[in-house]
Order: sequence, then structure tokens, then C-alpha cells
Amino acid sequence: MQVLFNDLAAQYQAIRNEVDAALQKVLQGGWYVGSTHVQSFEEEFAKRCGANYAIGLGNATDGLFLALKALNIQPGDEVITPAWSWISSAEVITHCGARVVFADVEPETFTVSAKAIQGKITNRTKAVVVVHLYGKMALIKPIQDLCKQYQLKLIEDCSQAHFAESVAGKVGTIGDCGVFSFYPTKNLGAFGDAGCLITNNENLALKVRRLANHGGLTKDEHLFEGVNSRLDSIQAAILQVKLAHIISWTNTRRLLSNIYQEKLRVVKEIILPCVDEPLAHVFHLFVIRAQNREALQKHLQQLSIQALTHYPKALPFEPAYTYLNHTEKDFPVSAQLQQEVVSLPLHPFLSREQIEYVCHGILSFYGY
Ligand SMILES: *Cc1c(COP(=O)(O)O)cnc(C)c1O
Repeated sequence: MQVLFNDLAAQYQAIRNEVDAALQKVLQGGWYVGSTHVQSFEEEFAKRCGANYAIGLGNATDGLFLALKALNIQPGDEVITPAWSWISSAEVITHCGARVVFADVEPETFTVSAKAIQGKITNRTKAVVVVHLYGKMALIKPIQDLCKQYQLKLIEDCSQAHFAESVAGKVGTIGDCGVFSFYPTKNLGAFGDAGCLITNNENLALKVRRLANHGGLTKDEHLFEGVNSRLDSIQAAILQVKLAHIISWTNTRRLLSNIYQEKLRVVKEIILPCVDEPLAHVFHLFVIRAQNREALQKHLQQLSIQALTHYPKALPFEPAYTYLNHTEKDFPVSAQLQQEVVSLPLHPFLSREQIEYVCHGILSFYGY
């Protein structure tokens, strides 16, 4: 049996008729950028997220950058962000001329705590970029309170956590804004690069929309310099088709995760993902912490099971950040995670048998 980490072709086959019809409509309409397809997707996405505004963008990295720009982050400012994340949430801070300040994550949840953020606040701190990693929302209420107390802007990176919700509210609506990636492998993915920013703040929405379109809402308006980062019609139409399926796909991710949890509970050599609040986790990835990680991955590979590493290196230890002169002692949890994490295959088109085959592979590796 072969178990792929992801299977986007299987996803396409499952919704082929709907996707093909939507594509035909866009292609025959002859309006490929800034069309009613984009507007219609933005309206539906905002509504489904529980936000007043959604702005389609070229990708989530641009979304994070434009969010910081719109919130007036500039040289001399500091922005706090997790040491354990994809690089986008950090690099955009530098692109605004501000200083990246990393905070370590919690070993159980892989996300930053309010306490870790508080420890990094100085009188130059202007904002926090929180990442809802692997599909699990960070413990956001205390972070929201902390940001209010210190008058910090709060940006939620929801690139891995579409439609997660916690007692604090729906993902992306708790901070000043939420940013989503629609990169093909994300829970809601386009057929290319795409992203989106949601907010309840009308002024922020307008500012981001202008920044993403050369400083204007219309063709010849240039109130300030911006960039070109737009969601195109084809991607919007595909995303709108997929929106009708996302809840069912998320439920399947949760069901398959439960099988992993049940079968692997006995393995003392691994730590399973924490699911303290079921709706707050949409299982973009199923990440375990494993003893003897390299050998386990090799064993799985021999069984034709694709298991990946998100991420091989914590951000402060990447060459891009050597200028900050950090050592592993500064981020002990992230330093440990980079030795231990393994992402097991998890997507809505896996069968129960495939999940059980992966579990069997892990059990046999540790001699159970
Ligand atoms: C994928 C991802 C991004 C970047 O998204 P793009 O659309 O590829 O720019 C940012 N943050 C996190 C946490 C991600 O997983």
C-alpha cells in the first residue's frame, strides 16, 4: 500500500464537474482580474468567516506584509512572532523595516502563549503576529487581552487554520485582522497561489485593498504607493467551488485524526497532538513528536508512507536570522521540536485502511 502525504489530484477528481463548469464560466466571460467572481468569493468567504470584510490577495505572505503596512509598522518598531513557524510570519516584519522579535512556543500546542509574548515586550513593540500552526488555534484570548493592555496590534496568521473556532471566537476575527493562504496544499487551496485578509475594521480593509492595488480602489487612483497583489478570477471561482466542501473535508480530517489518536495512544515513544478544544483544531497537519525521528521516517518511507517534517529548523536558527545571534538556549522548545516533529499523512482523501496502515508502521517501528 502507498500512502501519499497529500493527493490534490484525488481532490480534483471528486469535484471535477463543478470545477470545470466554474472554469468555463470564467474563461468564456473574458474578465480575468478584478471580476465579479472575485467579489462574489470575497463576500462569501467573509460571511463564512464571520467577518465584515474580505480582500482577495495574491498570497498570504503579501497579506501579512500588507497588514503590517496598513497598521503603520515602520523602521524602529519591533514585532513579536513565533520562533516556530513558516518563515512568512517573520520575513514580512523585516520588509516593513521593523525588527523581528521571536518568542518560543509551547511544547504541547506548538503555538505562542501570552506569557511568552509578554516576556518580549519593550517600549518599541508595536504588534504581534500570532500563527495558528498546524490547524490549531493559539490560546488567543489571553493574547488578545495582552495586546489591548499594551496597545499592540494583533495579526492572526490563519494560513493553516481555515474555519477553526474557539471560545474566543472564529479564527481571524479576534485580532485586528486575519490572513489566509490558499496555496494548493492548504485546507482550502486554489490551483496556484492565492490569499486573503479578513477584518471587521472598515478603514483597515480599505487601506489593505488600496495597498494591494497600487494605492487605489480604481484604475487611476494612487493615493500612495502600493504593490500588485490581487486574487484572480480563475482562483476565486475555484475557491468558491471548494468553499461548498470545506466543512465536510474538515470533518473528515478530524475523523481520520481520531483514528491516529486511538491507535497510537499506546506508543510511549511519541507525543500526539493536543486536542483540548475540538473545534479549535482543523488538522491541516497531524504532527507528532517522536523519539528517533530520522529512523522512524526512514522506516515509514520503506513502507511507501510519506511523512514530512514541518519544520526541519526553527526560524531563529535559519541562515536568514543568524544576524540576530540567537543560540538554542534562547528557544529551548523550538530547538527540541526541530529534532522531534514528524507530520503524518492526513488529507480528506485518505481511507481508514491507509491511516491504519500508517499506524501499523509506527507501532511496528517501536516494537508494539
Ligand atoms: C503557507 C503559509 C504562509 C504563506 O502562505 P503563501 O500563500 O504561500 O504566501 C504563511 N504562514 C503560514 C503559517 C503558512 O503555513
